[in-house]
Amino acid sequence: MKFPLRSTIQIGSYVAKQKRAGARFPLVLMLEPTLACNIACIGCGKIREYESNKARLSVEECVDAGVQCPAPVVSICGGEPLVYKGIEDVVAGMLEMQKNIELCTNALKLQEFLSVFKPNPRLTFVVHLDGMREIHDYICDYQGLWDLAVDAIKAARAEGYRVTTNTTIFKETKVEDVLQMMDYLTNEVGIDGMLVAPGYQYSQIDPNLTMTRAEHEQKFKIIKAAARKNGYRWLASPVYQEFLAGERKLACAPWGSITRNPYGWKGPCYLLTDGIFPTYDALLDGIEWDEYGPGNDDRCEHCAIHSGFEPSAAFEAASNLKDTVRSTVWTLTG
Ligand code: SF4
Repeated sequence: MKFPLRSTIQIGSYVAKQKRAGARFPLVLMLEPTLACNIACIGCGKIREYESNKARLSVEECVDAGVQCPAPVVSICGGEPLVYKGIEDVVAGMLEMQKNIELCTNALKLQEFLSVFKPNPRLTFVVHLDGMREIHDYICDYQGLWDLAVDAIKAARAEGYRVTTNTTIFKETKVEDVLQMMDYLTNEVGIDGMLVAPGYQYSQIDPNLTMTRAEHEQKFKIIKAAARKNGYRWLASPVYQEFLAGERKLACAPWGSITRNPYGWKGPCYLLTDGIFPTYDALLDGIEWDEYGPGNDDRCEHCAIHSGFEPSAAFEAASNLKDTVRSTVWTLTG
């Protein structure tokens, strides 16, 4: 199974119930308790978007975000969540609400926290890994980080934690390097899954780093074929895989991932900030959602990021029987 059974059933029932209700609904809450980070990746638009990275949410505000937003999955990102004082209380509060937590980390401090948290099927450490040693250390601008991250993944898994990785593909990324990493993680490290998605063309990032749609589709055709052939645990649903490889069109459903950060509830998505609102309800009412996505807004033209399109892939899969069956089989196998 790709995900723990209890979480799979919970999320499936949530989607079915919300679809019956007919309104827009989020699958994921992207919670940024702090924008501070202990590294400065060259591929990170966040560190360039915000002039001050000192702003932080209180623990109470973080937990309240989980109360306001019904999404069953909470991706705790940022910034580096493990530099946020009180992260263990945020995680405990979310677990109490039966949320499924994806705690994104560069793994610099992960080993310190293995005795702070307890393994729980609803808690996944998502370790940033942008390829094998050389490219990862280059993208993160931190020599030795790849080795630290791989050691932390092994230590966390040895203690019974669920661990996945998150890889962003840039223009300079060689597909062979990504496949080598997927092979290494699958066969030598052992991993619960790998997120692999293209980077977004932030205006704050060097445009030479990110790809056009045609460029990333070429790379993902190869990744899709290799993942299938070699049985890599790529955490991309069949519909999202086909979209990445340019085999089908997908509209963006930006409300599928809702972002809460120290400045408020921001929209339309994790990447674009056209509005900041005081509450979750105000964000849902305040954004003209239909004005976004490829074909609607120039900034969306080459976007295929995970937080924008994996929820829309899930919504699409729930809308027709063939994709429902394929997605269910994919979730229950491997
Ligand atoms: S296409 Fe990308 S940039 Fe545009 S709204 Fe969706 S997630 Fe945001």
